[in-house]
Amino acid sequence: MTPETMTPEALTTDFGKTVVAWQRRHGRHTLPWQNTRDPYRVWLSEIMLQQTQVVTVLGYYERFLARWPQVTDLAAATLDEVLAQWAGLGYYSRARNLHACARAVAELHGGEFPRTAAELQTLPGIGRSTAAAIAAFCFAERVAILDGNVKRVLSRLLAFDGDLASSVAEKKLWNHATELLPEAGVDRYTQGLMDLGATVCTARSPDCPTCPVQPMCAGFATGEPMRWPIKTRKLKRGRRENWWLWLENEGQVLLQQRPASGVWAGLWTLPMFDDEASARAALPGATLETLPRIEHALTHFDWVLHTMRAEAADTMTPGGTWVARETLVNYALPAPLKKLIEES
Ligand code: SF4
Repeated sequence: MTPETMTPEALTTDFGKTVVAWQRRHGRHTLPWQNTRDPYRVWLSEIMLQQTQVVTVLGYYERFLARWPQVTDLAAATLDEVLAQWAGLGYYSRARNLHACARAVAELHGGEFPRTAAELQTLPGIGRSTAAAIAAFCFAERVAILDGNVKRVLSRLLAFDGDLASSVAEKKLWNHATELLPEAGVDRYTQGLMDLGATVCTARSPDCPTCPVQPMCAGFATGEPMRWPIKTRKLKRGRRENWWLWLENEGQVLLQQRPASGVWAGLWTLPMFDDEASARAALPGATLETLPRIEHALTHFDWVLHTMRAEAADTMTPGGTWVARETLVNYALPAPLKKLIEES
């Protein structure tokens, strides 16, 4: 049977065995969240690794565990403390869900994570793939994951022509992922798929010559594996512009907390205005120093942030909280503001 005609059923045995054997010899084994069956650790790493590189996550993971060694410790923390510890990692809804999930585990499950993917999926911030990863790694459940990396590997392997922008096609790929599961060793297989996606079948340069599943890869057989995965919907990016007022008074900086929903929800920023005139009107007569503008890319839009800085007396400023510069590290600041403060 040639790769072009292979079905998930025909691939199952060979594919699963090959991935497991390859993971044993060539996969990653020394990441700090590996070699454990503790669902707290696996969950924490899975949430942090969503949309984020391993190298970025390493420090955050260690700091979270040092501060909150058990899920019940995390549940007892305030959301502000969690957001402050998360600051710089981006996609802050993950931090809010992390906190809500820890609380749910502590309050609804007696401090123990549920042991099946189906139950794990009922917790805040745990989607189908994350639930499956925790269940496979910690409880040896035979269940498929399908994160971004695995979607890419399987789409190429099967030359899967469904458009992953459509939920019908995505469901079909989930079914294929389930069909491909080996009978045993699902934890190593799951790690192997993750490792293949992260180190061999990468988005921009799949290393097909060294890939263990190349002989059975339909995408490779076409000579154009980069055609997969197919996803047509293009994200329409917007652009926003805002003005920050950086006000200092005797070594203190004025901060405002963002609303509980929307971009940077719950984080602390400098007072923010929609246009320059409004920012200036908040501090009539003050001499404002204009700092270089910041361009910050978020998922859905590019954000241009202008900063104007001034010494200001408490009585003449917009509302907020005065914070001593040396204690700013205790506040959950978005990454561009953290950088701005560090460099000034
Ligand atoms: Fe990806 Fe190439 Fe391996 Fe196919 S052969 S899974 S395209 S790296």
